[in-house]
Amino acid sequence: MTKYTSKHIETNAIHAGRINDEQFGSLATPLYQTSTFIFDDAQQGGDRFAGESEGYIYTRLGNPTTRQLEKRVAAMEGMDDAAATATGMAAVSAALLTNLQSGDHMISSKAVYGCSYALMSHMLKKFNIEVSFVDMTNPENISAAVKENTKLIFLETPINPNLVVLDLASICSIAKKHNLLSVVDNTFLTPVLQQPVKFGADIVIHSATKYLNGHGDVVAGIVCSSFEMINEIKMTALKDIGGTISPHDAWLIMRGLKTLPIRMDRHCSNAQTVAEFLESHPNVATVYYPGLKSHPGNKFIGEQMKAAGGVIAFELNTDLTGGSDFINRMNLFSIAVSLGDAESLIQHPASMTHSPYTPEERQDAGISDSLIRISVGLENVEDLVTDLKQSLDLIKVKAVFNVKTPSSVDTDSSKQTVDTL
Ligand code: PLP
Repeated sequence: MTKYTSKHIETNAIHAGRINDEQFGSLATPLYQTSTFIFDDAQQGGDRFAGESEGYIYTRLGNPTTRQLEKRVAAMEGMDDAAATATGMAAVSAALLTNLQSGDHMISSKAVYGCSYALMSHMLKKFNIEVSFVDMTNPENISAAVKENTKLIFLETPINPNLVVLDLASICSIAKKHNLLSVVDNTFLTPVLQQPVKFGADIVIHSATKYLNGHGDVVAGIVCSSFEMINEIKMTALKDIGGTISPHDAWLIMRGLKTLPIRMDRHCSNAQTVAEFLESHPNVATVYYPGLKSHPGNKFIGEQMKAAGGVIAFELNTDLTGGSDFINRMNLFSIAVSLGDAESLIQHPASMTHSPYTPEERQDAGISDSLIRISVGLENVEDLVTDLKQSLDLIKVKAVFNVKTPSSVDTDSSKQTVDTL
């Protein structure tokens, strides 16, 4: 294995962890699409199981193609090691289940990806693990929620779907002070734009389904951490629960990773143009994108995050029907969940990605029912703006207002709806 690592992420995205194909000199990573590995003899098989000789045993426990992906992403995150998983949710569950046991307590940000919320609010409860969901925009709320049995803090930044940015340095220092593990889901920004370990994160996870792969043809995840933690995750959550990645998916993700830095550049510049356009359109009520000066997370650009990424959320000056009509009129944006692909996507979190929350929980977490989320792809940005504009221009803004009337008049019938084009 070539141990080439650089201080530059563009080089690591292409070379880190690279296996030299000594037999044929293949430039592309060899794909070891095999479930199992042949031992020279029974003794060698036994020795490998006992950990007394090096070598692969069975792909659920490890595979050379997958190993290259793990080394590469670990180098890009600036962390010791990584464990690749079958999905992003397998990465989230592996990180949590390896580190929590019955009777423990953890703290999560109130707003997180819908299935991470479902895992923590429903599944962990079955194992007697208690979760406090707090608003982490004020890190003091975390300190206030710490109990004697608290083990871990979980967060995303920017948060899916409302793009709230959390202060990694403050949150990780609270974790350190109380001897808690900090787990950061870095899916939205990737190591190209943000490396949570620099701010003290202990475990960094990704849905590799998104930007890391980038081509909409894989579901996968990855957990990065210390050698000891990754070993523990592999020997428990992966070996015994079994959320192992397929070698073919690992191979596809490595193909995607080679262009990640340049893809992120374009995702960010396209998203910035689209966000500024949305902010200027009269039929858009609010735009949530940390790249905008108006966004409270804008102050974190530079230090914590290099740029704002490719996901934007916004609310329209219309009702829910107007919102779904707006989505249905899109031509270039596909109506689909997921993000980070070359194709631009549009979805409605309340009825789709964040439907595991009850309406009350969603409201409490700051995820409004009228929020629309887009993943800005790599198409020509003029085409993206044109598509959004044609649909926005057709919104009928429904403003309900009370006309001043004599007190004798029934005020309900005096409410008027104005349609403006
Ligand atoms: N984390 C975040 C921030 C996500 O957006 C998602 C999926 O959308 C996940 C985790 C889960 O990833 P996967 O769908 O690959 O299981």
